Amino acid sequence: MTTKSSFIKYSVKWLLLFTVLVLAPLILALFGHQEENRGFWIEFGVGLGFIGLAMMGLQFVLTARYSKIGAPFGLDELLHFHGQAGYFAWGFIMAHFVVLFVADSQFWEFLDPRVNLPRALALSGVIVAATALIATTHWREKFGIIYEWWRASHGILGLFVVFVGTVHILQVSHYVSEPWQKAVWVTLSVAAIGMLVHNRVWRPLLMKKRPWKVTSITEEVNTIWSIELEPVSHSGLQFNAGQFVWITLGDSPFKLQQHPFTISSAPEEKNVRLTIKSLGDFTKEIKNLVPGSTAFVEGPYGNFTVDASIKTHNVFINGGIGITPTMSILQDLRSKQDQRQTTIIYGTPSFGLTPFYEELKVLSSELNLKVVHVFEEAPDDWDGETGFITEEIMKRYLPDDTSNCEFFVCGPPPMMDMAESTLRKWGVPVYRVHSERFNIV
Ligand SMILES: Cc1cc2nc3c(=O)[nH]c(=O)nc-3n(C[C@H](O)[C@H](O)[C@H](O)COP(=O)(O)OP(=O)(O)OC[C@H]3O[C@@H](n4cnc5c(N)ncnc54)[C@H](O)[C@@H]3O)c2cc1C
Repeated sequence: MTTKSSFIKYSVKWLLLFTVLVLAPLILALFGHQEENRGFWIEFGVGLGFIGLAMMGLQFVLTARYSKIGAPFGLDELLHFHGQAGYFAWGFIMAHFVVLFVADSQFWEFLDPRVNLPRALALSGVIVAATALIATTHWREKFGIIYEWWRASHGILGLFVVFVGTVHILQVSHYVSEPWQKAVWVTLSVAAIGMLVHNRVWRPLLMKKRPWKVTSITEEVNTIWSIELEPVSHSGLQFNAGQFVWITLGDSPFKLQQHPFTISSAPEEKNVRLTIKSLGDFTKEIKNLVPGSTAFVEGPYGNFTVDASIKTHNVFINGGIGITPTMSILQDLRSKQDQRQTTIIYGTPSFGLTPFYEELKVLSSELNLKVVHVFEEAPDDWDGETGFITEEIMKRYLPDDTSNCEFFVCGPPPMMDMAESTLRKWGVPVYRVHSERFNIV
């Protein structure tokens, strides 16, 4: 169980560090050669640019998939923060241009191709690229942009903004006139860009040395398939129950198609099972995989995990394919003969579209586990819960005093929103509610 004090301590430390890093360029400027004062608005405009660029650089850190950075918030919260910080970074960069242009019309020169063509192109490019980063993220589905292309372009556009921004700062050389200041800027930009390279080049190279083989493809229910992966000439994966991996299928780990899936098998098993719902171009092809084909696995990631050291009543609110992390956790509890009280409220469209129905039944008899199925459409002889999971249903199966409960929420967005807001309403502290969202962007 995450304690209140450790959660607050971590959050404060994290926010402080982020703020210091964002303000670092301004702090850095104070220590160098003292520049002549050009008036408040110009210096203010310059400061906005420094902050905007620092925030853009930090975006690479937030998305670098370093598990330590996200804990204990989780990937979805981290990416949510990344999204919000992106709007601010864009705002600072745009405000930099606007404030300077308004403060002194001479600054328009920077965009004038007659004065300096490459500079005008590069800086206009920054305005376009930063705006495209925001627009394509906000309206990706509306524009019909394929996820993989969006992801690739997102990295390239971000890289462009940071690269041109750094060159611009070095060229203007105001507040960065000392060689050591230039060196710090170059080092920070290279580090930020290096994280992207690490993510997209170095990690796939490492994955190439540790291939996996698809050993089976099993239909759980209509549109949901489980695949089992076996490590080829390596020891496999060490993970905590509830974590997820990114997988690439085929002969190369460098493909654009890399997708996250939660492991639905126990950490004690050498082979890894992923249970996948057919949704789009990648997942619809899962059923056509042939045994023996190659896969690459990156991970594990995530903190949707149970703390084994503290005895809590674990409550899972799951919907549809959101059951996958729970399946891994339950099997892990069984291997460890852990008889802690566990309740699952599991919503699915119907009995026939409920994956793991039988497996959950067996697990209920082996663990201190109560499974409450909630079928949207139930058979006539069903005397259990029907419809969607609601606060009333949650109330019926959960104790009035939830102070010993740790909550795990994973499922479709409306179900998650309902469960999270209900738990907030009940006064359950945020650090006791673990959420995993499968639709992060
Ligand atoms: C942490 C996590 C764990 C997940 N675990 C499971 C699981 O156990 N079982 C399961 O069936 N699904 C899981 N998903 C969802 C799964 O990753 C998407 O359904 C899948 O990537 C869709 O790909 P597609 O090309 O078939 O569909 P598309 O129609 O292309 O995409 C549908 C939606 O899935 C998301 N998505 C698509 N591609 C990616 C990608 N490369 N990376 C991240 N998100 C993407 C986007 O939000 C997109 O709008 C998980 C997602 C996350 C973030």
